[in-house]
Amino acid sequence: MSSQPAADGGAPHRAGRVALVGRPNVGKSTLLNRLVGCKLSITSSRPQTTRQRVTGIVTRPGAQIAFVDTPGFQTEHRSALNSAMNRGVAAGLQDVDAVVWLVEVLRYGERDDAVAGLLGRDCPVILAINKTDRVKDRKLLLPFIARLAAMRAFAAIVPISAAKGWQVTDLLEAVVAVLPEGPPLYGEDELTTDSERFLAAELLREKLFRSLGEELPYASSVGIDRFRQEGNLRSIHASIVVDKESQKAIVIGKAGKQLKAIASQARREMERLFGGKVFLEVWVKVRRGWADDAAALKHMGFD
Ligand code: GDP
Ligand code: MG
Repeated sequence: MSSQPAADGGAPHRAGRVALVGRPNVGKSTLLNRLVGCKLSITSSRPQTTRQRVTGIVTRPGAQIAFVDTPGFQTEHRSALNSAMNRGVAAGLQDVDAVVWLVEVLRYGERDDAVAGLLGRDCPVILAINKTDRVKDRKLLLPFIARLAAMRAFAAIVPISAAKGWQVTDLLEAVVAVLPEGPPLYGEDELTTDSERFLAAELLREKLFRSLGEELPYASSVGIDRFRQEGNLRSIHASIVVDKESQKAIVIGKAGKQLKAIASQARREMERLFGGKVFLEVWVKVRRGWADDAAALKHMGFD
């Protein structure tokens, strides 16, 4: 008897890059985390905490999907930051094999239409209708789906709940079905192509938003000034950049307590994620007119 595994019936391996698009707060980060099964993108009840694209890689028998999380749209404001983000979304859509367009069940509006307007005609679009756990009356679901189905020829329409994990596997199958045949693009154990440096900034930013919530202005950013690794010790210098002195005081808190708490929560999570000790120092800096300063966007990876 041979010890070789049995042939799988000849189904070809499929692989590709898939963009996750949708207006802010529709559940993109939650879905990505659910799909990848590990916390890589950052979720928040406030829009726009994800300013850069995060890739999550799902590897299953017979298929590999590299998911791209786009920062979403901001149609209310027209600052340099927002147009850079919209350019980022458009650029993110260029180089993908399929698009998963996320909408929120029973809440379709202008900002969703703006997203729809950016979807090309050439690449397959799968419509995922999220937050179905919120629908009490299932009768409302069908007319909503029918209305969206009339918009274009979708490759599939899948109602899901990213938060509960409902029908996320069905969504994954619908995505795999439209991917081109090809070998895996990444190693099986690679969960993300983003550098630890980027993940460190994302974690710190998440702790910042979680701790300060509404007190924190949108126009604050986190940068990693230094990232060094010696053996299994990572030494990280980060800065939180805010607009005004008064905001700096809020971030730092009484006797530095707030900042200390944020930094130590972030450090603990980095240690868990990187699997080693982390030495983290965080500075708070003031910078005026940040959101409108196109030059500053270069540091965030936009161009
Ligand atoms: P993004 O801006 O599109 O990345 O959205 P997030 O993933 O950050 O989610 C925005 C908010 O919606 C968060 O408060 C999530 O907890 C919530 N959310 C996401 N998916 C679901 C879902 O399936 N059901 C419910 N009830 N809430 C969800
Ligand atoms: Mg997000």
